[in-house]
Amino acid sequence: MAEAKAERIPGFATLSIHAGARPDPTTGARATPIYQTTSYVFDDVDHAAALFGLQTFGNIYTRIGNPTCAVLEERVAALEGGTAGVAVASGHAAQVLVMHALMRPGDEFIASNKLYGGSINQFNHAFKNFGWNVVWADPDDIASFERAVSSKTRAIFIESIANPGGVITDIEAVAQIAHKAGVPLIVDNTLATPYFCKPIDFGADIVVHSLTKFLGGHGNSIGGIIVDAGTFNWSRDRKYPMLCEPRPEYHGIILHETFGNFAFAIACRVLGLRDIGPALSPFNAFLILTGIETLPLRMQRHSDNAIAVAQWLSAHPKVAWVSCPGLPGDKYYKLAQKYVPKGIGAVFTFGLKGGYDAGVKVVSNVKLFSHLANIGDTRSLIIHPASTTHRQLSDAQKIEAGAGPDVVRLSIGLEDKEDIIADLEQALEAA
Ligand SMILES: *Cc1c(COP(=O)(O)O)cnc(C)c1O
Repeated sequence: MAEAKAERIPGFATLSIHAGARPDPTTGARATPIYQTTSYVFDDVDHAAALFGLQTFGNIYTRIGNPTCAVLEERVAALEGGTAGVAVASGHAAQVLVMHALMRPGDEFIASNKLYGGSINQFNHAFKNFGWNVVWADPDDIASFERAVSSKTRAIFIESIANPGGVITDIEAVAQIAHKAGVPLIVDNTLATPYFCKPIDFGADIVVHSLTKFLGGHGNSIGGIIVDAGTFNWSRDRKYPMLCEPRPEYHGIILHETFGNFAFAIACRVLGLRDIGPALSPFNAFLILTGIETLPLRMQRHSDNAIAVAQWLSAHPKVAWVSCPGLPGDKYYKLAQKYVPKGIGAVFTFGLKGGYDAGVKVVSNVKLFSHLANIGDTRSLIIHPASTTHRQLSDAQKIEAGAGPDVVRLSIGLEDKEDIIADLEQALEAA
């Protein structure tokens, strides 16, 4: 007798197009419809009561969940290899909801000091107002994470590839430190995307994204997402009351006991989205889903173009240095081979021999590149951090943040690489 055929696990490109989506049951619509509604009719009073008591899954109100957003959640969770996702209004909102589920006033979390500048601000200022205290560690000195652990530590936060300098973090080593300390590892995977790196495979317990960047990919919508890996035991040390203690707002339900390996995602939804409220609009979810359909094609092209441009810049007489983990001589080349072997994404920095003034000249003279503060668009983007995003810092602080006066950051787009290089060539000529 023939054995039952093992179920085929779809590949990444197939999941990018199909995960979470099915033809609309009432209309047959093949693209995911935009369910532009605030609320949903209950079948009857019992159904309503079961929804409010978390005894049944379903839609109540779009602040807590929406069918278009649900397709996006299922898709990104599938791409990352997690159990569930929670889509939110922005990458920063994702970080707030994650910490809201983990931290109480006075608790600490350890974060890499090489992060997106906005995250450094959020952790230093906004989170302090909630009494959530950040302790900084250095991804170039992994032992600094271990030294930072205390009895108040509740999480460790890193980026897989860190903006702006292309820092690659040794995810597996930090995951080991987190798990020894009995806390989850959170990885911001915005720059790598699951196409290049799946942090859960290396021990991450929670993955966050700014969907605004490569997942949306077209520079048209702000969004964020949280992915629950389903790996962390929230009850073991009783450190996470949101997850392991009876919730008074849901008649004493214990989320970890009731929802098991997707309890963290449930906490972010039914306590975070419900009570803090940064819901993603279904229209943005639709645009981001459309972007994700081409994620593998776009990411490979971004990275191939970026490495070609980095190689060309390395040989240019006005360029002092190029920091791109895709170049064999780079400090992070070896870690890149392990964590992002298919490519390094679109973002890297280079330094101009002419310093600050040359940086200003280059961004003032580009024509194809757009001078703006974003990354992960189809278009090539350029910024001189010292005169813009990092302007308020002292020179020493700028250098510490990888944004010294000579630094230019690029997010290489999907145009022909010859055109991208020609534009930089004429802008460098003017510098
Ligand atoms: C942009 C970004 C964020 C913040 O995301 P928003 O969608 O702008 O709120 C967080 N982390 C990284 C790495 C980013 O690039």
